[in-house]
Amino acid sequence: MINRSKDFLRKRVEEDLKLGRYKKIVTRFPPEPNGFPHIGHAKSISINFGIAKEYGGECNLRMDDTNPTTENIEFVEALKDAVEWLGFKWSGDVRYTSDYFLKLYNYAIKLIKMGKAYVDSLSEEEIREYRGTVTSAGKRSIYAKRGIEENLELFARMRSGEFREGEHVLRAKIDMSSANMKMRDPLLYRIKRADHFRAKDKWAIYPMYDFAHPLSDYIEGVTHSICTLEFENNRDIYDWLIDTLELKPPRPYQHEFARLNINYTIMSKRKILELIDKNIVSSWDDPRLPTIAGLRRRGYTPEAILNFCEQIGVAKANSIVDIAQLEFAIRDDLNPKVPRVMSVFKPLKVTIENYSGFEDIEASYYPHDVPKEGSRVLPFSKEIYIEQDDFMENPPKDYYRLTPNQPVRLKYAYIISCQEVIKDDNGNIVEIKAKYYPNSKSGSDSSGIRVKSAIQWVEANSAKKIEIRLYDRLFKKETPESIEDINPNSLEIIKNALIEPAVIQDRVNDRFQFERHGYFYRDPVDYSDKRPIFNRVVSLKDSWAKKIKKDNRRDRNKPKKEHIEGKVAPMSREEENLFQIYTKKHNLNKEVANTLARDIELSKFYQEALKEFNSPITIGNITTNEVARELKIKKIDEVKFTPKYIADLAKMIDSETISTKIAKQVFEEMNKSGREPTKIVEERGLKQINDKSLILAIIRDVISKNEDNVKKFRDGNKKLLGFFIGEVLKASNGKANPKIVNSLIIEELNRAL
Ligand code: ATP
Ligand code: MG
Repeated sequence: MINRSKDFLRKRVEEDLKLGRYKKIVTRFPPEPNGFPHIGHAKSISINFGIAKEYGGECNLRMDDTNPTTENIEFVEALKDAVEWLGFKWSGDVRYTSDYFLKLYNYAIKLIKMGKAYVDSLSEEEIREYRGTVTSAGKRSIYAKRGIEENLELFARMRSGEFREGEHVLRAKIDMSSANMKMRDPLLYRIKRADHFRAKDKWAIYPMYDFAHPLSDYIEGVTHSICTLEFENNRDIYDWLIDTLELKPPRPYQHEFARLNINYTIMSKRKILELIDKNIVSSWDDPRLPTIAGLRRRGYTPEAILNFCEQIGVAKANSIVDIAQLEFAIRDDLNPKVPRVMSVFKPLKVTIENYSGFEDIEASYYPHDVPKEGSRVLPFSKEIYIEQDDFMENPPKDYYRLTPNQPVRLKYAYIISCQEVIKDDNGNIVEIKAKYYPNSKSGSDSSGIRVKSAIQWVEANSAKKIEIRLYDRLFKKETPESIEDINPNSLEIIKNALIEPAVIQDRVNDRFQFERHGYFYRDPVDYSDKRPIFNRVVSLKDSWAKKIKKDNRRDRNKPKKEHIEGKVAPMSREEENLFQIYTKKHNLNKEVANTLARDIELSKFYQEALKEFNSPITIGNITTNEVARELKIKKIDEVKFTPKYIADLAKMIDSETISTKIAKQVFEEMNKSGREPTKIVEERGLKQINDKSLILAIIRDVISKNEDNVKKFRDGNKKLLGFFIGEVLKASNGKANPKIVNSLIIEELNRAL
């Protein structure tokens, strides 16, 4: 577990325990079974079950089934399934609000007898009118004058089904001029003539959320009723009910936290149902959906989802989480765990003419930075397939893979060189005739041949055909408003990709890294050995680069160079095409895409770098800032760096090996000396410091040297936070990871002295 300060909910729970308000913590997760749960529910599950677990308490799973027309058993099962899959156990049996219908009814009778509830016979519209507005008081219904006996009789007849829907409702008698609109005689019961999936036709009336929820909490002995912020105003009703009914303590209290929102997706069962009904997605478990079933089918792990929930934390203010953060969580979870294997998505046949026979090459499953035991056998013969992109007949400079003049290594195997390019009648390359170097085998290479890269391949006769499903964001807009905002390319299917045979034979692993392509998962529904189908869980690219984006945002205040309305030349067709690709496919911001699209040389440079390391945003930023600046004063063959160098630089930024600030420094040096950026970083010791304890030590040192300022800070001069952060960064020669500094410094400042 990451070490962060306790959130407000946990602080409250600890205080309640300390003061002896409760002997045992009881929370509950109370979904309405009207759809499949989504990642927002996962947050609520992780909070409710997590708190119960941490403080030796219990968490109930309660189906909040008070609306017979939208709920059913399929959804109950999906909810149970999600909780279990995330690794939690509810206390006792699953509970249902419908099991409390009689108890709730009796509480309603009690309220009527106390003169605190009445049967109202206004129409829905009149009720709304009478409620008043935020600025004007409401008016109480004439029916509020009904006597207790009449109310009891009418309520009993409502129950037994003598009235039509909407004819009467039961309302609490509270305050029609309350500043909190919710307190203006809220509805407690309504007539609904529909069969309930559990209670069947037993009831003609159903309790409202505001009535059923607090009382169900009380009935179950819940201590902390944790819900999302939109229920803040309902808390007054919650308290009013429990107080008015004079329920025996201990009683539950409601606490609200911010619901989870994620960009480029929607988070509501109702809206998801709409996508299913309109056939935009296939079902509740469509891997593009943020449902737990969808994420699970796509290949997400419970660990990744729980880590994500922990990382986003619990707050009191609503915000939107970047979907990149969810993707980060799954990459982070899978990276060390899953085997790496070779696949070819767009096959190009290679015949190695001087090779005969077959051999089995043993290759590690885990060629990671921290290797693990485990390997598989790669069959090898004269016929193999490589990725079409890994051969170019007329390559630009800095293309490091196979060309007619440049040999390349087949990963784990031999070096080959191209002897002949075979084309069809239309001039498309259909096959490469190649030769291999017998003494160049990986691990025992004595050939002395130098290659610039190793590419993936599969042996032609043993490779298996697989279907690949590539998923992208479901919506093209960050905050989707309607179905119009759907991303039409959210699913791309590659029918005839090839995979090495070990993957199909593997009975242990379901998830793999297909090298250079991403993380993949056997589709748990459609997969069969005859028709193997893999879902892309997530691409390999670290969609880091947010920090860089932020830097750019800061630059917005500066006067813009181009983009002066009416003065900018229109783009040519090609430039416009490029611009579309850069903004839509690469997700570059408009200014970066614009600069690149209008400058062929810069564009080429950017694309070359991308081939080395697929991180468009980071590379796009370096190219349009640093590289562009140099190319204004020098020709492309005069600069001392290559696209590969920029790719290496980006790689170090994305992996947080160096900060963006240091990256600029490295760039300047590389620009002057032409030395490899990795070497510069290595030799000059510029690696970012990510080690928390090291950073903590620097922070403490800075604090001890600035006691006066610490006092001022603690006396309320919060502006000094910037000073302290600056000092820490300075003390680390700019190498401390600023994110970590930020996350640690406040607590240290408050603890100090
Ligand atoms: P939806 O609008 O998706 O139907 P809901 O709020 O109606 O969601 P419920 O089934 O009533 O869903 O919610 C069960 C619990 O999950 C509630 O306590 C609710 O506050 C919580 N919850 C629902 N959505 C989110 C979210 N996006 N983030 C955090 N908690 C959520
Ligand atoms: Mg709902």
